[in-house]
Amino acid sequence: MIAQNLNIIEEKISETCLKTGRKRHEIKLIVVSKTQSIEVLKTAIELGIRDFGENKAQELKEKAEKISEKINWHFIGHLQTNKVKYIINFTEYIHSIDSIKIADEVNKRAESIKKVQKILLEVNTSGENTKFGLTNELELLKTAEYCAKKKNLSLVGLMTMAPFTREEKLIRKSFIRLRELKEFLNSSGLELTELSMGMSNDYQIAIEEGATMLRIGTALFGQRNN
Ligand SMILES: *Cc1c(COP(=O)(O)O)cnc(C)c1O
Repeated sequence: MIAQNLNIIEEKISETCLKTGRKRHEIKLIVVSKTQSIEVLKTAIELGIRDFGENKAQELKEKAEKISEKINWHFIGHLQTNKVKYIINFTEYIHSIDSIKIADEVNKRAESIKKVQKILLEVNTSGENTKFGLTNELELLKTAEYCAKKKNLSLVGLMTMAPFTREEKLIRKSFIRLRELKEFLNSSGLELTELSMGMSNDYQIAIEEGATMLRIGTALFGQRNN
């Protein structure tokens, strides 16, 4: 089932790339493996997947320690300062930096293991107060400039979650907003390249609006139980 679903996802990504004149290699498919067992991850690895997204620090650590293949681990959940220590040895990217406080802790932990940690800033583009992320443009600029100066952080882009709705217009608006914020930051002297946006229900819209990283779980593995 996972193999078939992966084919369907790859077909849809290719189709959307063709339609919008984008190139497949510009887009990273991150498989969101939260709550999935090691066996399920191994199946995905056999199918060639090497980018996995997790949203709980201890879960990422446990899985990373059990899997011997070279995996690019992406942390995509809300991160608390006391949990950074669990993931810092493993994470290729942390997508969910949403304050100077958490940026400082990641920088400090990265420095202690002589690593430059690639990060993205999470932006709340939907206005939903159940979602995390920076909301205010100036606060985003301030946080981005702060991170850009830190020696052990490499700020590469922005991440968002679209609102939970069937209304395509609202979803698209969220993604456009993220793209515009990236352009705004770059016009202020930053050099961001990545837009982490698009999940199982909206990744084709995200590609149309410039996504470079898709985070897909359910469309590959089926509905999660918890
Ligand atoms: C769970 C999760 C996803 C994947 O969602 P699906 O709808 O299962 O594709 C993507 N991003 C974040 C931040 C998540 O927590």
